[in-house]
Amino acid sequence: MVNQPCYPAHIASLKPYVPGKPIGELARRLGVPTNQVAKLASNENPFGFSSLVREALKSGEVDLSRYPDNDCADLTRALASHHDLPPEWIVLGAGSESVIGNAVATFLEIGRRTAYSRYSFQAYVNSAQRVGAIPIVVDSPNFVVDLTGLRAQLVQEPSLIYIANPGNPTGTCVDPHELEDFLRAVPAHIVVLLDEAYFEFMPETVRLDSLRLVRTLSNLLVTRTFSKAYGLAGLRVGYGIAQPGMADMLRRARPPFTVTEQAQVAAMAALQDRDFIQRTVASNDAVRDHLAHDLGVLGFRSLRSHTNFLLAEVGDGSAWARRLESHGLIVRPVNSYGLARWLRISIGTSADIDRLVAAMRQEVA
Ligand SMILES: *Cc1c(COP(=O)(O)O)cnc(C)c1O
Repeated sequence: MVNQPCYPAHIASLKPYVPGKPIGELARRLGVPTNQVAKLASNENPFGFSSLVREALKSGEVDLSRYPDNDCADLTRALASHHDLPPEWIVLGAGSESVIGNAVATFLEIGRRTAYSRYSFQAYVNSAQRVGAIPIVVDSPNFVVDLTGLRAQLVQEPSLIYIANPGNPTGTCVDPHELEDFLRAVPAHIVVLLDEAYFEFMPETVRLDSLRLVRTLSNLLVTRTFSKAYGLAGLRVGYGIAQPGMADMLRRARPPFTVTEQAQVAAMAALQDRDFIQRTVASNDAVRDHLAHDLGVLGFRSLRSHTNFLLAEVGDGSAWARRLESHGLIVRPVNSYGLARWLRISIGTSADIDRLVAAMRQEVA
């Protein structure tokens, strides 16, 4: 007799998602105030969020006793106008991770296939595994998504292809022309989820105008988020953009009330502040280049990143993460991605990064 719950094999083999360590936890362990710990582990915005968000949340219109607007009508309209698309093309979710999970629930099931690149975002991989989909993992030479390799897998008829551009944890981008050719070559019954969580950090020269392609490709779903450049990771709000037919199906498959009223109000205010995004990106680019240079001087290579983090080859990633914790610095080991020699470092303020480089210099001495 079996005296415990009997899990399906695809559930029993799930690996836990390993998030960045919380600041409070390390501060407690080191016995220091939380403001002495710098978290460079979850690609959050070191400048927080726009002051317009603070004002909007303070104005106190949110009634916590009421359910939020399930349709996110005001935010949807604001996003539609921001992107110059009809509101029917926008689907909100509690973070883009929730939109991704929603897409997985919509397009995958036990026995259906999904294709993605090696080193793909763990949240996607887990989400597809959770529904019992069969993974087709395409190798990723040079840590860039291999579009030719993915194309070769189309004959296997995956129901859903996942591409993060830029990727996490790699930070690398694919060539925009090659990506466009790829997207145009995918048959209409195979859906492509293009995850653009770091879109705001991409320079124009490497950006694909994905929303132009959504207008012509009925099988393309683009996701964006307020968690990274907009600095609202704690509120959980992101969205998908697709043609109305797909957007409607995603809306039906979505659990109700996932986006809180505060998140809706905050996201609308955040959209108004383009200066904040510009300042964020400008600082990020400068500090990231600086860090890449300093890591090079220490003898560590890092991948060319178009995001707010760097993936650096440091030898033993976990050992480095532990060493840096003793300096009050939280970075992200990536062994769960099969990258035990690498460390993912979020771009903090220039003071944070100076502190990190000083600690590393001390450790290698
Ligand atoms: C951070 C991240 C997301 C989503 O984050 P949310 O907070 O759920 O919006 C999605 N994809 C990638 C590749 C990310 O790095």
